[in-house]
Amino acid sequence: MRIAQKPERPRRRLASVLAGVGLVAAVIIGVVLFVQSLPANITLNGASVEVHGGKTLGDALSASGVKPQPGDLLAVDGSVLEAGKGEPFHATVNGEKVTELDTKLGSGDVVEIGDGGPIEEPSDSVETAIPWTVAQEGNGVIHLVEGEGKDGVKATKTGKTSGITAEQVKQEPSNIVRRNVSPDVGDDKVIALTFDDGPWGDQTGQVLDVLAEHGAKATFFTVGNRIEQDNGDAFVKRAVSEGHQVCTHSYDHAAGSGQGVNLGFMSPEEQKAEVEKGRAAIEAVTGAEASRIFRTPGGNFGDDVVKNIGPLIKAEIGWNIDSSDWRRPGADAIAKQIEDAWPGAIVLMHDGGGDRSQTIEALKKALPRLKDQGYRFITIDELLQYPLS
Ligand SMILES: [Zn+2]
Repeated sequence: MRIAQKPERPRRRLASVLAGVGLVAAVIIGVVLFVQSLPANITLNGASVEVHGGKTLGDALSASGVKPQPGDLLAVDGSVLEAGKGEPFHATVNGEKVTELDTKLGSGDVVEIGDGGPIEEPSDSVETAIPWTVAQEGNGVIHLVEGEGKDGVKATKTGKTSGITAEQVKQEPSNIVRRNVSPDVGDDKVIALTFDDGPWGDQTGQVLDVLAEHGAKATFFTVGNRIEQDNGDAFVKRAVSEGHQVCTHSYDHAAGSGQGVNLGFMSPEEQKAEVEKGRAAIEAVTGAEASRIFRTPGGNFGDDVVKNIGPLIKAEIGWNIDSSDWRRPGADAIAKQIEDAWPGAIVLMHDGGGDRSQTIEALKKALPRLKDQGYRFITIDELLQYPLS
């Protein structure tokens, strides 16, 4: 008997354990089913909604009566290819975008749902550059070069469904602005004398002598290869040491393809070299960084020149008064031109490019008379310290 009873006891125990586990499982399943059968209480577009059934976004929509309208399928040019074939609806659950109507919802969820947006047809896209250009403002003779020339990008898209081609600007170009300004010198009787095309041997020395005699400061727009001959370096050194401003007027005055007068006739590389070599010739003498104030040969500063050399300079300096000394009309005629200057005016003269003895005589006549009227003579850098507009 004992032998026969032995195996029965564990079996009975196992049966009762299984029954217990089954009961617990049944209770758990019952609770889960009961909880699942409860509606989810959500907020949809600000209103409370009870969601039954599978408690999905679709169920919530049915329960709320909200009927989002689908967006349209658009061609690459924005025209409607097929109405209602865009995004079916636009929805978020607790701030997260959802796209499926069978998205499960739980009590406390906050749902925002509205009309669907447009969808653009699939397309092929080719990106090309939008070249930067030169924009101009104002009409003063000080030509400030501002900004950085940088190409933009445009995409040309061809719709795979429509075959339509459309352009889209992805990045606007960054243009250089040539701001043509004048200084507002107020009541200051200041004049900026400028001398081009030197150094020119002792002629430049004589100009420096007259300026020194009258305590006048001036700006020399030098030609680089002139600095490298006829003791040009010594005159540059002297001008700097006496407080004048030395800038470049190009390396060889647009010789060769520039026909001696217009950088615009030269290749972009040649134009840049005229400025860079012109500045380097000054730096070789002074050992200091050369000014980025420039005067272009012949005053020819067209958009193509601005485009090529604009990034290398801060300003191109024109003039209000052409003394016409290069015509050699006689010292009195030149002096009369210089004396026509007004406060803030920039006067064009030459210490190089030929015989300038009339210019030197004219300076000797005009400077004391202008001084008697209360004028003083300043560099371009000093003139640029005044408000510019
Ligand atoms: Zn010149």
